[in-house]
Amino acid sequence: MKVIKFGGSSLASAEQVNKVIQIIKDDAQRRFVVVSAPGKRSAEDRKVTDLLIDLYQARTTNQETTAIIEAIYQRFVEIAAPFSIKDDVLSDILTSLHDLVTLPIENNPYFLDAVLSAGENNNAKLIASICQASGIQARYINPKELGIIVTNEPQNAHILTKSYKKIYNWRHSEEILIIPGFFGYTEEGQICTFSRGGSDITGAIVARGLRADTYENFTDVNGIYAAHPGYIHEPETITELTYREMRELAYAGFSVFHEEALMPCFQASIPVVIKNTNNPTHPGTQIVTERTNLDKPVVGISSDEGFTMIYLSKYLMNKEVGFTLRILEIFRDFNLNYEHMPSGIDDLSIILRSDQLTEAIEEELLRKIAYEINPDELRITHDLSLVVVVGEGMKQRVGSMAESTAALARKNINLEMINQGSSEVSFMFGIHKEREKDAIRSLYYTFFE
Ligand code: ASP
Repeated sequence: MKVIKFGGSSLASAEQVNKVIQIIKDDAQRRFVVVSAPGKRSAEDRKVTDLLIDLYQARTTNQETTAIIEAIYQRFVEIAAPFSIKDDVLSDILTSLHDLVTLPIENNPYFLDAVLSAGENNNAKLIASICQASGIQARYINPKELGIIVTNEPQNAHILTKSYKKIYNWRHSEEILIIPGFFGYTEEGQICTFSRGGSDITGAIVARGLRADTYENFTDVNGIYAAHPGYIHEPETITELTYREMRELAYAGFSVFHEEALMPCFQASIPVVIKNTNNPTHPGTQIVTERTNLDKPVVGISSDEGFTMIYLSKYLMNKEVGFTLRILEIFRDFNLNYEHMPSGIDDLSIILRSDQLTEAIEEELLRKIAYEINPDELRITHDLSLVVVVGEGMKQRVGSMAESTAALARKNINLEMINQGSSEVSFMFGIHKEREKDAIRSLYYTFFE
């Protein structure tokens, strides 16, 4: 049995919804369908969720809301147009949108969540009725009825474990259930959404609760690319990768998936398949616990900019008990989160995301390190990019790092930092951000062509 989820671009228009209907019909194992709110129809278009944020803003600043409600409603009308759905579905959607502006806004931390959830909730109702009109035995189910109970954290809810048991009770549902993504209910019955992009999370939660065999996540790409298509023309699509590899790739810039979304499936060892609504026969990318085929040492190369490195060295540093602890305490006092800390005998570097720093914080931080640690050398490097080479296959193969550094050397790219965790799933280079594109290209051509 499969849980499937469709993202906003897969549900943005009647034409897209037609493909979705076909995908549901094509495979009898697809019994549970999680939907996002309608997304963009073109690059300039707006997502229904963003229109709902406009509605929230207009309402909370006492401005006119009618035009925004009409714009949102028209998105649903347009999607429904070619299908012969029941008469009251659209009028119910319109009523529910008008009802939103009658909710209390004073002292109501859940108001935004109620507004946001209307995108997915109304879309699930609409898709369910389109399914029925297309001969699929399906029905809408509300997340409360399904058993999605979440923490009381408006716009950033997390699932409560007891939900899984409740969701499991629906496993043998005779009808295909159409489930709105992105939100659940607190124990007190309030709507709370997950963070933005959170329909992926709902899909994974439902898959875990039902102990599905597979969670298929339909989007608008063929799968996860081995490198960013902005840097590499038509990069390969990864056929299979492990959760660990996915984590490593996502960390440095790959954003096919909502970060937290994999968690429930990872915990229950449920394979996730990323597929393309516009090309559903393409096998997509399968994310699994263990990979069987490790022939290729590297599965993907990713990168992210916006890092700063603080380097310090001190003669006989390795003999000083508590040296690193003292440095990290300084970082904690400044409330700074660090990402990596590669070290040598007498030196270490601390790499952190630059957006945590201002000139003033930086100056104060360096002053404090100089005063308390008294290093022989203290240096800060800005504008670093991290380039990450990922692949479980590297464990069993000698020379991946050598090939990488040779490729970068041929392009005359200076390596500010090299880091390899002992898991051997990935290694990472810190380079100047201006060389990021060249680095990705030379590494890609080393491992993929
Ligand atoms: N509609 C929500 C958003 O745009 C959730 C989602 O699509 O996953 O963030």
